[in-house]
Amino acid sequence: MSTNADVLIIGGGVIGLTIAYHLARAGARVTVMDRGDFGREASWAGAGIIPPGDPRHSGAPLERLRAHSSAMFPGLSQELRERTGIDNGYLRSGGIEVWDSGHSHSAGEWCPQGAACEEISSAALRALEPGLAQGFRKAYLIPGMAQVRNPRHLKALIAACAGLGVELRPGSPCLGLEVGGNRVRSVLVGQERASAAHFVLAAGAWADSILHPLGWRLGVKPVRGQIALLNTRTPLVRHIILHGSCYLVPRPDGRVLVGSTEEDAGFDKRTTAVAIADLLALAVRLVPGLAMAQVECSWAGLRPGSPDGSPYLGKAPGLENLFVAAGHFRSGIQLSAVTGLLMKELILGEPITIPLDAFRVDRCGEAPAPAAFRT
Ligand SMILES: Cc1cc2nc3c(=O)[nH]c(=O)nc-3n(C[C@H](O)[C@H](O)[C@H](O)COP(=O)(O)OP(=O)(O)OC[C@H]3O[C@@H](n4cnc5c(N)ncnc54)[C@H](O)[C@@H]3O)c2cc1C
Repeated sequence: MSTNADVLIIGGGVIGLTIAYHLARAGARVTVMDRGDFGREASWAGAGIIPPGDPRHSGAPLERLRAHSSAMFPGLSQELRERTGIDNGYLRSGGIEVWDSGHSHSAGEWCPQGAACEEISSAALRALEPGLAQGFRKAYLIPGMAQVRNPRHLKALIAACAGLGVELRPGSPCLGLEVGGNRVRSVLVGQERASAAHFVLAAGAWADSILHPLGWRLGVKPVRGQIALLNTRTPLVRHIILHGSCYLVPRPDGRVLVGSTEEDAGFDKRTTAVAIADLLALAVRLVPGLAMAQVECSWAGLRPGSPDGSPYLGKAPGLENLFVAAGHFRSGIQLSAVTGLLMKELILGEPITIPLDAFRVDRCGEAPAPAAFRT
C-alpha cells in the first residue's frame, strides 16, 4: 500500500474527516483511512446538538473553542451544501433547559459566556412549547442552540472530501505506527505500510490502542451513550429540551432523539433494556404526548472520553510529524469545525487562530472542564 500524501489521517469520524476537509481545501494531498466505513462510530451515533457561544466574550479555553466552532457551523454547513448538494440539516432551533426541584445550579453555570440565556416564566414556557409538561421549578431559554443531523453531515463531509481529491480508504485498520528517530515513518495496514509526511491520529475512543505500543497513553476511554428515536410524524416540540444530563432533540420531520446515558461499558455498543426504558420514561414525563409516539429504533455509541473532558489537540511529544486530535467526549460534533481549522493550521505551520496550550497532548492532572452543555 503506497501513498504519497502530505497528511495521512487515521480515523474517519467527524474529527478526521473535518481535518481532511480543511487540509484538502488548503491544497494538501490527504489520505484518510478507517478500519471500517467512514463515520459509523460515535460521530454517527451522536445527537448533533450545537450549543451557542460568542467568540468575543468566551473566556475559558474550552468555551472559546466551543464558541468558535459554533460560529463556524452555519458557514461550514452552507459550504458543504454548495459543494455537494447535501443538506446537513443545520437548524438553529433554540433550546430550553428545564429544572425540577432537585436541580441546584445557577443560570450562569449553564450559559456559556456571551451566549444569550434567559429565565422564562411558566406562562412563557407554555406559550413557547405547549406540548411540554408543566410544573418545572425553572426554565431557561437558549435561543442560539442549534442542531445538525449527524448522518447527513458525515455524508456531506465524505462527499466534499472526495470532491477535493482526498483519498478515502475504508476497511483499512491501522495496526501500528513505525517510528524511526523522532518521526513516524509509516502506518502498518495489514501486511502493508502507508507512508506520508505527516500523520494525524483521529481514532476517537480507540486512540490509545494505537499509541500504547509507542509507550504512552492519553487516557482516552470509551463512554457509552444510548439513544432512542421516536416518531410522531408532526413535531410536538420545536426546541431542544435539556433536562439534567438528558435531552430531547426534535427534528422538523416529527422524529425526536431521546438521549443519553453515560456509561463505562468498555467497547460494548449494545443497548440495554433498563437504559432505553429510563430514556423513554423521561421523554414521556417531559412531553406527555410522546406516550403514543412510534419507537423507531435505539442505538449506542462510544464517546471518546478524556480524563478532564477536553480534547487533545496538538503534536505528539517526541514525534515531529505525529499530530493528535482525540478525546472530544460529549462535544465532538460541536467542536469538529474548529478542530478541523486548528489542526490544519498546526500541520501546515500557519498562525493558530486559538492558542492550543490547554489542549496539549502531554497535559495531566488538570481539573475537569466545566460541562455547560451535556450532549
Ligand atoms: C449518544 C451520543 C450522543 C452524542 N451527542 C452529541 C451532541 O449532541 N453533540 C456533540 O457535539 N457531540 C455529541 N456526541 C459526541 C460525539 O459524537 C463524539 O465526540 C465525536 O463523534 C467523536 O468523533 P471522532 O471522530 O473523534 O470519533 P469517532 O466518530 O468514533 O471516529 C473514530 C474513527 O476511528 C476509526 N478507527 C478506530 N480505530 C482505528 C484504527 N486502528 N485504524 C483505522 N481507523 C480506526 C473508527 O472506525 C472511527 O470511524 C455524542 C456521542 C454519543 C455516543
